Amino acid sequence: MAWLRSIKSKLVVFAMMATLIPSLGLGLLSFRQNEAQISDNVTRELRAMTNYASREIKLWIDKRVHEVHVTSTSNVVIDGLSAISRPEESLPGGNPQALAHYLRSVQGKLDTILELTVVDATGKVVASSTQAPARVTLPKDWPQSSLTEGLVIAPPRWNTGYATATLSVAVPVLSYDNLLMGALVAVLDLHGLQPRLKSAIKSPSGEVILLDSDGRALASSQNDTDKLQQLDPSVLRHLLAQPGNSMAFQGLTHRNVIGLAEVSAEPRVTIVAELDRAAVYGKWIELRNMFLGLVGALVLVVAAVAFQMGRSIVVPLQRLIRAADRIAGGDLEVRLSAKRNDELGRLTVVFDQMADRLRQSHAEIMAANEAMQQQNQVLETLSITDSLTGLYNRSKLDAILADELARFKRTQRQFALLMLDIDHFKTLNDTHGHITGDEILRSVARILLQSVRSIDYAARYGGDELIIILVDTSADLAAKTAERIRSQVENAQYGNNGSTIAVTVSIGIAQCQPDDMTPTAVFARADQALYQAKRAGRNRHIAIINPGLSTAPTACPSRLPPAY
Ligand code: GH3
Ligand code: MG
Repeated sequence: MAWLRSIKSKLVVFAMMATLIPSLGLGLLSFRQNEAQISDNVTRELRAMTNYASREIKLWIDKRVHEVHVTSTSNVVIDGLSAISRPEESLPGGNPQALAHYLRSVQGKLDTILELTVVDATGKVVASSTQAPARVTLPKDWPQSSLTEGLVIAPPRWNTGYATATLSVAVPVLSYDNLLMGALVAVLDLHGLQPRLKSAIKSPSGEVILLDSDGRALASSQNDTDKLQQLDPSVLRHLLAQPGNSMAFQGLTHRNVIGLAEVSAEPRVTIVAELDRAAVYGKWIELRNMFLGLVGALVLVVAAVAFQMGRSIVVPLQRLIRAADRIAGGDLEVRLSAKRNDELGRLTVVFDQMADRLRQSHAEIMAANEAMQQQNQVLETLSITDSLTGLYNRSKLDAILADELARFKRTQRQFALLMLDIDHFKTLNDTHGHITGDEILRSVARILLQSVRSIDYAARYGGDELIIILVDTSADLAAKTAERIRSQVENAQYGNNGSTIAVTVSIGIAQCQPDDMTPTAVFARADQALYQAKRAGRNRHIAIINPGLSTAPTACPSRLPPAY
């Protein structure tokens, strides 16, 4: 169900359900009601069909009985039966052939009568319109039950001889003085019922069928009976179990029918009325299918609209998420332009404002950071710089020296340390003032900076003492540099108002040695060399290369110092 996690899918599912549930619910309810109503109407129509058919059957039989009755009262039949029954009296008409001839001629005129047979009071055949008349067994209560009307003496059945369903009725034959002499038995062709059964039907898909007790079709309103099959016994059982109530089953003519059955007492026959289910429910099914199609189309349209709506929400949201991701990743150059006026458009505008604000804050922070870095730089520079001369200060000098010594231990690459002291600086101060003294200090510092390489260091140790560290430098080269500095200091111009001030420096040189454990050792040697240079008359440099050996000056002053 991972796909259901997105807003888009949720909207689509909600919209489909919101459409499906009410439309299907209401639709199905209304269709069920319609179905029930149709079912009621169908049952009513089927009942009317069976009732009408039952009445028509009765009327048809009554008419046939009446025809037989009329025949039974004809002189030919009465006289014939009297003469044949009492041959000893030699009455006229006592010829069975003549009676049979008469019966044949009557039967030929009546369509629905297949046989006419005269029997005597004991049931013995006297004459018949056919050669082989159907066997007649008169019931025991004969003739009481049939004195005035016809008697059905055999229930309807399929007559294979005539290939039709037949029904036998008997009417009494009375003498002129109303004595029972016998009976006229007629075999009726039930096929003749078809027009009457047909008249019981209004719907074109309707059918009324008469069945015997085994479910065999005897007569039908629509079809030739011999084409009809036997109704499934289990269906017949169900139909008879609930007379008057309709049910769906496989009919005799149509595949699917709705029908009901009623049993008529006289004659004993089952009347089944059927309506083609497709015809009854056709319109309903068509409507239902149309409705389902409509609901399906509606759901598709709603789903498409919901999908589109979901997209219109999700796409800008995804755009916002991507932009937020980029900002979270540090890219502040994200700009979304709002293209809509709704809440998402407003959210996009607010997002842009937020991003602007972030960019602004970021720029301010960066500017503040840069200013702070610059200040730090200044502070750092100040912390390592001598404020008067601009050279490194003492603490930085200590660090440089420690580093260089460590490097020497690591790489065995030597460095030289030059310790410079302005000669008679105190006197210079006293003579020209401290401001001039400061100026002289700055000038000497400038000469130092110009005389060393960028990889070397120049620092003020304190007072008028300055230090130079020459990296990767041999003692010879250090002496040369010291001499160059001494010379430049000596030859430089000092003083503002035209007066010339003579300034010289003394320089002590030391070189790092493998057994120097601390910077102080190197420093001490340089100090010692400086001391010696002062002692030797100033304005000179002296190097102490190896502490174990005696020291010797390596450079001479260009001229004598003013005083020592
Ligand atoms: P020497 O030749 O033996 O070095 O003699 P000197 O007079 O230079 O003696 P010393 O080095 O002991 O004196 C240093 C003088 O430097 C003392 C002090 O008045 C002066 N001085 C120290 N710091 C400053 C400073 O920042 N500015 C000025 N103008 N003078 C300073
Ligand atoms: Mg000095």
